[in-house]
Formats: sequence, C-alpha cells, structure tokens
Amino acid sequence: MMKLGKYSFGIGDRFEHQGEAQLRAIMKASQAGMPVTPVWNKSNREHNYVHTEPVTTRKEADAAVASIGWTGPYFVDADHINLSNVDRFIPVSDFFTIDVAAWLNKPAPTESVVAFKQACGIFGETIALPGLDLEIRITDELLDSMAERFLSAVQEAGRIYRHIEATKGPGAFVAEISFDEVAVPQTPVDMLFILKMVADMGIAVQAIAPKFPGRFNKGVDYEGDLEQFSKEFEQHLMVIDYAVRNFGLPENLKLSIHSGSDKFSIYPVMAQLLKKHDKGIHLKTAGTTWLEEVIGLALSEGEGLDTVKEIYAIAFSRKEELCAPYADVIDIDESALPAPDVAGNWTGPEFAGALRHIPENPAYNPNFRQFMHVAYKLAAEMGPRFQALLRNNRELIGSCVEENIWERHLMRLFLPLIEGKEA
Ligand SMILES: [Zn+2]
Repeated sequence: MMKLGKYSFGIGDRFEHQGEAQLRAIMKASQAGMPVTPVWNKSNREHNYVHTEPVTTRKEADAAVASIGWTGPYFVDADHINLSNVDRFIPVSDFFTIDVAAWLNKPAPTESVVAFKQACGIFGETIALPGLDLEIRITDELLDSMAERFLSAVQEAGRIYRHIEATKGPGAFVAEISFDEVAVPQTPVDMLFILKMVADMGIAVQAIAPKFPGRFNKGVDYEGDLEQFSKEFEQHLMVIDYAVRNFGLPENLKLSIHSGSDKFSIYPVMAQLLKKHDKGIHLKTAGTTWLEEVIGLALSEGEGLDTVKEIYAIAFSRKEELCAPYADVIDIDESALPAPDVAGNWTGPEFAGALRHIPENPAYNPNFRQFMHVAYKLAAEMGPRFQALLRNNRELIGSCVEENIWERHLMRLFLPLIEGKEA
C-alpha cells in the first residue's frame, strides 16, 4: 500500500511558483533529524480561480523534487474533491482528500442503517477508551443519531474511494476523508462511529480531517478555548488509536488539520500530545504561501510594491464579493483595515510588517492579513503580469516562503517532537 509517513505537511501553492522554496524548508527539517513528507495540495476551487490544472501541480512538485534533489517520498493531493470533479485529478494525483461535508445529515437507506446498528453489536453496552476519561454508552438513540448524521456521508466517501480505486488500482493512492468545512464540530465520540462506518465501507483511510471546536480562520492564529481544544485533540488521538486496533483500519491513520497554517497557539498543545502518545499528524496549509508572495513583492519595492498596493485597493472596492465565499473562515473587522490611500503610502517594509504573521510586532494587522488572504483571486485576474512579477522576484519571495514554513511552522510544530530539541 502507498503509505503516508508519520509526519506530513501540506504545502498549498496557489500560483505554483514556490515548490522549490517550500521544499527547501522541508529539507531543513529533514536535515535537523525530523522527516516530514511534503504534500502539494490544491483544491478544485483554487484551480478554477487561478486557471491551473491538476497536471501543473504535479509538474511543479516533480520539478521541485528534481531541482532540490529530494529523495524522500512526496505526494500531490487532490484537495477537497467530490465525485463531480475528481476525474481531472485522477491521472496525476496520488493523494485524494475526499470531502463529504455536503453529505452530512442526509438520510441513508433503511437497510444500511440496520446493517450499521447490527455491526455496532461488537461494542456491547459500553466502550471504554483506555487512558481517557471517556466512556461511551451504546444506546439505540445514539446509534440512530450517528447514522442520521454520518452514514450517508461515509457511503458517499465509499463511492468516491472506489471510483478512484477503479482507475488507480488498490493501494495505489493515499486517501483522506474531510468533514471540516461545516459549522458544527465533530466530537471524538462522533469520530469513533465515523471510523466504524469507514472501516465497514472498506475505505483504507490514512488521514481524517474533522471540524475541531474553535475558529480556524485563514492565515491567522487559532481563536477558541485552548483547554477544550487540547482535551478533544487528545481524545481524537485515542479514538483513532482504538479504531486502528479494533476496526482493522491502516495503522498509520492520523488526524489532518486543515487551515493549519498560522495556528501558532495550538502548535505547542498538539506537539506535546503527539509526543506524549507517539502519534503522527498531517498539517495542511494553503494561503500562507500566497501571503509570503505578497510580502516578498512589497519588499522588492518598485513595480512589485505598486502591484500589491493596487491589488489591495481593488480588493477594498470588491470586499463583499471576495469575502463572501470565505465567510465561515474569516473574521475581519472592516474598521481596522487601512484606507487604500493610507496603505498606498506605505514603504515596502511597512506593507510587509502589517502583513507578516508576527503577533509581537505592533505593525502586524490580522484584519489586513485575512483580507489579503482572500484577495488572491485578483492576482489571478492580473494573469501574466502577476506571474512575471513572481518570476522576476523569485529569490526574494522564495526566501520569505522558506522562512515562513521553516521558522514559523515546521520549527514550532515538528521540532519539539524530537527528543532534546524542544523549541
Ligand atoms: Zn479543509
């Protein structure tokens, strides 16, 4: 079976110019004794906005690997796919994030509900999870509610999985299942029954992305109750451990954290629990690299700085349109956004300082940062002009991208997992 390593990192790249810079950061982790598997992830929506094709992501990844001389495993992730759009990804992807959020809370056929409840007979009256303050009492109501909320979605995941498998062959790809883009979090108890359904459906899932409590806003830190996050994160780890041992799921099955970039306040929490239980993790990022491109262009002064100021001014006049698709994953205080003529007078370092995710810096503005995050569509609209700027400022931008992934992400989340290297 094609196997995803214990630690993996999703390096989304909207414009597909930063593969090398991203991989240089991963290489640094590897040289520091922390093997992290790079996964280039891109969703159907991103491809449509930016007018790229899945094959171009594959080419970017292969070129970066060849140029850096990376000899470890790496993957190209068809991110958030469903049955209607997966086909364009199948020939070139070897990792599929099967998104069935739209199938939650849909009725499943009665005979499947009956079969699910019968299959849960193995649990007896209670499930006690070792090492956890969590005992689940199995009742008819609980099983009905689990079937109502999740069975139809897992059945759809099964259809998509088998559709991919029919072309690629059994075991020839990594499968992740995601339900994260919804309002209501899934609890560790939900996770247990979801995994039971997934196992009974014969899906060899290697990563699973639930919706966690709290806000995972784009490009900024986690907002929520750290203690509750920590408790549920640990329970999810233990539930997955139980499911692997009892349901016959792949032994490397692990949690996947979506919108995982920039969540600095939960990295130490996750690192401590992953280390305590010796578990793996997949952390998915996307817009954080695009923001480093903006920062690099700002620092380049001249045409690069003019262009990012122009993007901001246009975005400011198209706020509603740009923010609407991201309403659930941004929290922007519009009164805290600089007026375009104010930002228009900033120097390169001033523009970069407002944008760069360094919370201690008084110039840092998380509202501005989230807003620029959703403005990538405008850079895509500029087409070849923006692409040329990325090419002409390749070194400066690349150093921003590399520093962001290495210093602010890999060093904080993965390095504490190595003995004696507590960050
Ligand atoms: Zn997601």
